Amino acid sequence: MDDELRELYQQVIIDHGRHPRNFRRIEGDCRCRQGYNPLCGDQLELCLQRDAQGQITDVAFQGQGCAISMASASMLSEVVKGKTPAEAERMFDAFHRLLTGEEGAEQGAELESLGKLRVLAGVREFPSRIKCATLAWHALMAALEPGNDEPVTTE
Ligand code: ZN
Repeated sequence: MDDELRELYQQVIIDHGRHPRNFRRIEGDCRCRQGYNPLCGDQLELCLQRDAQGQITDVAFQGQGCAISMASASMLSEVVKGKTPAEAERMFDAFHRLLTGEEGAEQGAELESLGKLRVLAGVREFPSRIKCATLAWHALMAALEPGNDEPVTTE
């Protein structure tokens, strides 16, 4: 990582880690799923609301964990609002490929849609933190799935 990206990475994580966006409950009808990352001890509950067409109209989360897990959940809550489940799934896919440093992961429309989340590509240098960064996304995918309400775990 070059110095500029490293600095941006740290700033964004500190900012969102200290002041997470959408760290609240959703009033009214919503779907919630808990996520747990035993490796680090991160735990959160992510809730979402969708309109009649299935579009995500609100996302909120609560929980506790390391700065990376909180920052990732915070940024997720900002970027997936207004998205369809299929769009959110493609974003998660792009995000995951970015974190694992997969070939060709540096480009594409999905990647653009991730916005500031792209700085989390920095966790690539710390593979054990990838699960911290993806925890909220696993909870999101689970919340979009109809059916069981089992908590999700990164293990
Ligand atoms: Zn963590």
